[in-house]
Amino acid sequence: MFVDPFADAPPPTRCGGMLVVPVHIIDLHASVWARARSARVHVDSTMIYRVGPTTGSPFFDLRQRIDRCWIDGVPVDPSAVAHEPVGGFADGVRVVRRRHSADSVHHLRVVYRLDKPMSDLSGAYPPRVSWTGPRLHWSFGMADLYAGRYLEMWFPSNLPFDQFRFTLNLHITGTPVHHTAITNGRAIVRAVNHWSIRFPSWFTTLSPLLEVHAADTVEVAAATVRLPISRRPVIVTAAKPVSRPEVLTAGIERISAVLAEQERRFGTFIGDAFTCFFHGAAGGMEYAHATTTSIAALPHEVIHSWFARGVMPATAADGWWDEAFTRYLELGEGPEPLDFRSDPIELCSRQPFQRTTSPLSYVAGSRVFRGIAALIGPGRLIEVMGEFFNVYRGATATTATLEAFLVRTTGEGALVDVFHRFVYGFDGAAPPSHRLSASSPALPPHPVVQVHSGNALWGNGAHPPGQFG
Ligand SMILES: [Zn+2]
Repeated sequence: MFVDPFADAPPPTRCGGMLVVPVHIIDLHASVWARARSARVHVDSTMIYRVGPTTGSPFFDLRQRIDRCWIDGVPVDPSAVAHEPVGGFADGVRVVRRRHSADSVHHLRVVYRLDKPMSDLSGAYPPRVSWTGPRLHWSFGMADLYAGRYLEMWFPSNLPFDQFRFTLNLHITGTPVHHTAITNGRAIVRAVNHWSIRFPSWFTTLSPLLEVHAADTVEVAAATVRLPISRRPVIVTAAKPVSRPEVLTAGIERISAVLAEQERRFGTFIGDAFTCFFHGAAGGMEYAHATTTSIAALPHEVIHSWFARGVMPATAADGWWDEAFTRYLELGEGPEPLDFRSDPIELCSRQPFQRTTSPLSYVAGSRVFRGIAALIGPGRLIEVMGEFFNVYRGATATTATLEAFLVRTTGEGALVDVFHRFVYGFDGAAPPSHRLSASSPALPPHPVVQVHSGNALWGNGAHPPGQFG
């Protein structure tokens, strides 16, 4: 099946006199040298990309200070790929100040010293790269609720609509201390403190996990489990700092039980491994068939292997549905009809350059799924979300895609009103032109994207309890 990599990409957007256009990353490669003697980490990374169907100036993101830069082999000043407030978001994306033809292929090489990312570093488990003498500690530290907190923290990357492969060569030099790399990529140990890690082509900027620690500071355990539906062996790996009290064998049992339960409900688990790092902080964060988490947040983060990092939100503005449905499953509070006299709530802004998931996703979002369960039946909701997972497994989905899927699959037209008021935040009735029926084609019922000049709706307070990711 041909998948258009630009299907969920932001539309061409004017900014600073340029027409800013999306790219698809064909390949991303990075070599990282972590040198204990200088206590520095250096990166040399190349991104090969194809421009979309519109000629213009491509965007990408990288939240590190670039020292040297080449576009198609020609050295340029790093200001040629500076950040711009595209879509009205102040910290924006980097824009290549070149006019690239539609469908043309280019490569960008950047060299920089790896440092604390220029991102919103809030939250319980922020990104970290630091040395303690000869010991390196590097945590990717991704987050949904804070801007610029996916792969772009460390390497050139794209917004979540794009799926691309990434190869990371990591060398730690000048230290007698052995290190451990905990990752959801396929890691080949080339030598002591030298790994080649491949992240597969279905991953997005949200997916890759890496934790690097001195081997004598972490405890690691693994077991092979057989899941009930796929019958495939899955390697479950759990790790923690040696100072932490978690019992890894109990953690592996808990992970295996939740994986089995979710596979029975929703269908085949997406990975052939599950990787868990108990970080000792509050809450947790999901990665593709992986998590960094507390014991308390573990079930929530494992469920995300189906919704969030199995079928993946196409934009940050779509991140509400994976948190909302995961929270709905976790709380198990049952159906409750929505009250259409209550105020509209916006969970999805449809702003393509928004970089954060709505913090309302957990409470107001799970309430939406309780309302949908009241409309179609809780058992039917589980079935339909299982069908949704199996259709979009390993792919991205917008809010409009989910809405259209639910309406088509259930034939329940009132779902359009639910999304209109309690997801998009519109008052009044949904216009007749937005109606879908069971026989409608897969057209989104609302405009897919609207680019606003401001971002007044961004970061509207109230974070969820426990800082779940
Ligand atoms: Zn979550």
